[in-house]
Amino acid sequence: MSRPARAIVDLDALRHNYQLAQSLAPNARALGVVKANAYGHGAVAAAQALEPLVPAFAVACMEEALELRAAGLQKPILLLEGAFTADEIETAAAHNCWLMVSNREQAEEMVNARPSAPLQLWLKADTGMHRLGLTPQQVPELYRRLQALPHVQGPIVIATHFAVADEPELDFTRQQIECLQQINRDLQAPLSLANSAGILAWPGSHAQYTRPGIMLYGSSPFATEHPLAAQLQAVMTLESKVIDLHQVAAGESVGYGRRWIAQKDSIIATVAIGYGDGYPRHAPDGTPVLVNGQRCPLAGRVSMDMITVDVTTLPSVNVGDAVELWGKQLPINEVAASAGTISYELVTRMPLRAPRHYLHR
Ligand SMILES: *Cc1c(COP(=O)(O)O)cnc(C)c1O
Repeated sequence: MSRPARAIVDLDALRHNYQLAQSLAPNARALGVVKANAYGHGAVAAAQALEPLVPAFAVACMEEALELRAAGLQKPILLLEGAFTADEIETAAAHNCWLMVSNREQAEEMVNARPSAPLQLWLKADTGMHRLGLTPQQVPELYRRLQALPHVQGPIVIATHFAVADEPELDFTRQQIECLQQINRDLQAPLSLANSAGILAWPGSHAQYTRPGIMLYGSSPFATEHPLAAQLQAVMTLESKVIDLHQVAAGESVGYGRRWIAQKDSIIATVAIGYGDGYPRHAPDGTPVLVNGQRCPLAGRVSMDMITVDVTTLPSVNVGDAVELWGKQLPINEVAASAGTISYELVTRMPLRAPRHYLHR
């Protein structure tokens, strides 16, 4: 016997989603973005499933890259934020990592470095996100300087990141694409622009490398319906079971703060999942929960280890019945929207306590 809360991770669905990303941008090479523990799915298991398919992985930092290396993964790994300290340049060289160079400081450290093996670099251009990256004016000069270094392998890739690619009706993404093409007019470097939303909604952004993240995990980057995103398959299903049932009379309350008050005589199912398992504490009453495959409303505040659900309308509910919090039958985007957040946050905040159970390893 053990606590029934667990995250089922379908690695076939992960591979399906990767292949969709690849087929939508057939002339580009799609990096497998597995930062933040593969968006909560387990970095090593996700990377092992993707390794035969991807040219390279992408992570946020060296610690994440070294976790993959320790598990025996071999493909190159792009560090999306580059080296945080000068000594990480040598670590990158020793472990076949590609480094993003996003500012003058990182560029100077690269000029001064004497790594034991040549490095593959990506140069980040700021085309409007204003978070990381060199100005369009800085790129050509630094590109040529870095490309000329004996310890830099060519050609350097120029990358940029989109601010609103998930809102396809906005013109700003087209402006960012044009800005990067302008920067690259004389350099003729390989380019990388597209995140998941770029792959799905902006064919003009596909270029030589794409960087799909959230779509690999089966969640749409868009707030509204999108025909291509509809082809994604949910990778994670967060599930648990009913562990108790309560008759609650009209006027009685349920849970902390007495937030939910029964409007009529009701049946409340207690489910073994809570914010300590990654279920969002901010989820309001009415957030959908699947009990025996039927949608029921959350009733009362989310506790650390439990939630309470109004199952009054179900014909029969018993202790031990199956509950899905999000996944194959209940899109995570719906739960995220109800809780005032995005799927990215829900999955990356999944703690270790909810065991990951892998299908199709
Ligand atoms: C996280 C990240 C991605 C992936 O973005 P998604 O929206 O999850 O597809 C791509 N590029 C960079 C630079 C990132 O940091």
